[in-house]
Amino acid sequence: MTSMRQFHLAAHPRGRAISPTDFSLVEVPMPVPAPGEVLLKLRWLGFDPAQKGWMENFADYVAPMAIGDVMRGSGIAEVVESRNPALPVGTLVEGMTGWTEYLLSDGAGMVPVEPRLPPVAMLSVLGLTGLTAWHGLFEVGKPIAGDTIVVSGAAGATGSVVGQLARVAGCRTIGIAGGADKCRWLTDVAGFDIAIDYKAGDLKAQLQAAAPAGVDIVYDNVGGPTLDAMLGVIATGARIVVCGAISRYESGGRPVGPGNYFNVVLRRARMEGFIILDHAARFPAMRRRLADLVESGRLAWQVDEQHGFENAPQTLMRLFDGRNRGKQVLRI
Ligand code: NDP
Repeated sequence: MTSMRQFHLAAHPRGRAISPTDFSLVEVPMPVPAPGEVLLKLRWLGFDPAQKGWMENFADYVAPMAIGDVMRGSGIAEVVESRNPALPVGTLVEGMTGWTEYLLSDGAGMVPVEPRLPPVAMLSVLGLTGLTAWHGLFEVGKPIAGDTIVVSGAAGATGSVVGQLARVAGCRTIGIAGGADKCRWLTDVAGFDIAIDYKAGDLKAQLQAAAPAGVDIVYDNVGGPTLDAMLGVIATGARIVVCGAISRYESGGRPVGPGNYFNVVLRRARMEGFIILDHAARFPAMRRRLADLVESGRLAWQVDEQHGFENAPQTLMRLFDGRNRGKQVLRI
């Protein structure tokens, strides 16, 4: 083969939803590994709501993206040609592959997949979303057995792991998700104590009924009116983990400020955000603990697998209308 395909950024989706025309599918020459390098063939792509922010250049914790750049994203790739003895042919690695069918690597930034679980776990429960759940809950939320926690975006890749880890830590768990089907999965499979369908009406009333004594931890993936409703039911000494605000990402604008914000004062609460990439040094330790929990049957994980490299843009868009069931991935 002399050529391969890549997706390049064609437009910055600011102030609007992502469109397939924000990407161009281009043919480029096949790269050839130099000594010390390997040729990687992409096997899976993983999708994150944050990719919208990267395309917009909204966030400054990653380098800006320019028109014509290979679309940035994580993936699992297989060594198909090796000029590096540390990475023999057949090795599967996870890292920032980008949306490209093949890429060169000297191994830097690439992590061998965990052999105890199926490879795709490295994009999901052992990937950035699982690590985010672990760090956000334990380091920011600081659960204590007996606490009540409410998680928004609870049926998603991050939220579902947060709720299950909180249960392992002895918390009472309330999950907020869109639709009866997702809510059923939360209680029947992921073991949440209560699931609330935010699309079914008055979220604050549903929260008050679920937690009459208030919630000790808010783990927010959504922002906007959902965050506001959760701030309305915090208990004294609550911790509010600001993980993400996907309700903002489509509009590209600033989220509406929460009217219940002053409850942070009245309830002596702490509200704290974080970026998981700052904590990479602890990833191997967190991954080991997450893999142990999966192996012992205490942590369920769900992957929504789409197919075909050419479907990458449409697969990313699934995150923003809630079509994904668990971690969104694409098999190549
Ligand atoms: P998910 O698997 O949770 O998928 C996104 C889900 O968000 C959808 O399935 C949908 O679920 C929900 N959603 C989409 N649009 C809206 C909306 N307008 N209002 C309410 N809910 C909406 O994705 P991830 O687990 O990958 O990400 C979850 C959050 O975690 C994101 O905000 C992301 O940015 C954040 N994050 C933060 C990190 C950090 O370092 N701080 C690192 C990684 C992720 P439903 O059908 O229930 O509405």
